[in-house]
Amino acid sequence: MTTYRNTQLFIDGQWQDAADGRTLAVHNPATGAEIGRVAHAGKPDLDKALAAAQKGFETWRDMVPAERAKIMRKAATLLRERAAEIAPLLTQEQGKPLVEAKGEVMAAGDITDWFADEGMRVYGRIVPSRTSVQMRQMVINDPVGPVAAFTPWNFPINQVVRKVAPALAAGCSVLVKAPEETPAAPAAFVQAFADAGIPQGVLQLVYGNPGEISGYLIPHPVIRKITFTGSTPVGKQLAAMAGQYMKRVTMELGGHAPVIVAEDADIALAVKCAGAAKFRNAGQVCISPTRFLVHESIADEFAAAFTAQTQKLKVGDGLAEGTTMGPLANPRRVTAMAEVTKDAVDRGAKVLAGGARIGDTGNFWQPTVLANVPLEAKVFNDEPFGPIAAIRSFSSLEAAIAEANRLPYGLASYGFTRSLKNADLMTRRIEAGMLWINMPAMPSAEMPFGGVKDSGYGSEGGPEAVLAYCNPRSVAIMNS
Ligand code: NAD
Repeated sequence: MTTYRNTQLFIDGQWQDAADGRTLAVHNPATGAEIGRVAHAGKPDLDKALAAAQKGFETWRDMVPAERAKIMRKAATLLRERAAEIAPLLTQEQGKPLVEAKGEVMAAGDITDWFADEGMRVYGRIVPSRTSVQMRQMVINDPVGPVAAFTPWNFPINQVVRKVAPALAAGCSVLVKAPEETPAAPAAFVQAFADAGIPQGVLQLVYGNPGEISGYLIPHPVIRKITFTGSTPVGKQLAAMAGQYMKRVTMELGGHAPVIVAEDADIALAVKCAGAAKFRNAGQVCISPTRFLVHESIADEFAAAFTAQTQKLKVGDGLAEGTTMGPLANPRRVTAMAEVTKDAVDRGAKVLAGGARIGDTGNFWQPTVLANVPLEAKVFNDEPFGPIAAIRSFSSLEAAIAEANRLPYGLASYGFTRSLKNADLMTRRIEAGMLWINMPAMPSAEMPFGGVKDSGYGSEGGPEAVLAYCNPRSVAIMNS
């Protein structure tokens, strides 16, 4: 197995310690033990990275997209080749089962490949002039410039690639502030690009104090675009700061995904799809199903089948053979699970499975199913971000859709129904950036990924993701 290693900063094409030598501890969530250290950048490191990002941008912007794509595709190949080596690093620092970690690395390769190609399709357009045939009017999509990207710990690699790949495809340089709690996997991701020959300064990686780094990078004149994934409160804070400096932003924030199981749903399919999605990455997924809204006529049957499936999960160290759910990524999440469970139970919810911490070593929480959850319970209002499924029943589809839309979140949503009419109503009425009907969540590089309302704005998939890193410019040439 890959030995866990300390993580340095990657600035101007070099791995390096922080100028003042500061580091932070990294812990294994399955054991609580310190497994390594990560460099903590200070202002001199950030200044160096900013200067390099500007130079890197000028180099990258002037390379033809096909050349950029060649480097990106090489990095994608390296990621896939190294997946077996990178996955254990990811599991040791984040906790997810090895198979999920490996899948995350492989997916990063696919996403990079797709965006490498998409970078060759950043078309502009020719617009006929309304006054003269000799006037050639063009719309040109230029890269915005150096990007500051802030990514969280739940998908240490996926959250980075979702920002880096479209930004690079557009021709931007990227300065990533990756999570201090899970630093080695993002470093392995960046290493693949370095080994693929990405020019100096085009992709850089720092860690440190998130608030200090965002407070320095967002206002800095070199940075032209901010992209953040994390909680809604932090996202609002960063978007407000970006607004003050008139910087472009993409915000991929929290969610509280409704799962509507209609009267005519295939219950077994709903249990299989939503159950697997619920406990993937121990529920620490922004698109994790969280509010289960089940028609009253099938609520008991659904809850029983869902509980039976949940009880088959094998919780343990992500490195151990057969583990299907790992620990929570940090002790904060265990505290949060205890709080929301107690709150729901105090308000009258019934615990059908789990509901408690496992042992006192590591951040293990039992996969939990709560039924008859009152609307006022915290778990039905604040993003739980953990392995808790909260179930309520409804009597009409309209009421379920109203509940789905009640919260300010609007990221992912799920529906199960055999009726085209119901599916159409959900499609038209559910206020969410993503809706999956009769299937598990299947985000892909080629489909938009993002939210509405308090879940943020901008997309991290599809051509929209690349355009988010472009400035459309109008150019007119009179050729006489
Ligand atoms: P948090 O809100 O403090 O941090 C969330 C992320 O934002 C972390 O990666 C953190 O490093 C970063 N962050 C925090 N303050 C920042 C700042 N001022 N500038 C730049 N980055 C900053 O909370 P947390 O305990 O780490 O996570 C808890 C909550 O965050 C969860 O309940 C969930 O709602 C949300 N979250 C969402 C995602 C997602 O995929 N959308 C991922 C991780 C966490």
